[in-house]
Amino acid sequence: MFTMPLTLIPRHTRISGSSEVLARGPPSFEEEAVVNIREAQEMMKRIYYERDKARGIERTILRTYQELGELSDAVLRGEDQSAIVSEMADVFAWVCSVANLLGVDLGDALLGKYANVCSRCGKSPCECVDTP
Ligand SMILES: [Zn+2]
Repeated sequence: MFTMPLTLIPRHTRISGSSEVLARGPPSFEEEAVVNIREAQEMMKRIYYERDKARGIERTILRTYQELGELSDAVLRGEDQSAIVSEMADVFAWVCSVANLLGVDLGDALLGKYANVCSRCGKSPCECVDTP
């Protein structure tokens, strides 16, 4: 199951341009997801962008690999859930840093490719037969 730490953002901060939103009715799940991911990415940008820029894209990608390795180790060693959650947060944070350095909006990227269905077969749940 693919999950994002959407609960990081208090709900009352999610909506901008509220009169427009109210006129259109409540945002869809997809719209909410994009906003939440974007806000999480913006939060990481506020905290780390200057450091990320100084480090550069190559070393930031290497750090992301390192964090993914730490997540893998935590899972494969059977560490407790809090350790796995912490490593998962680190992986997401570093992916945000890479996206910020490359000017990629992760919300648009994710929902642009996985618009509530599998990006290959177009179904939910996925019905692809050639991938596990
Ligand atoms: Zn599929």
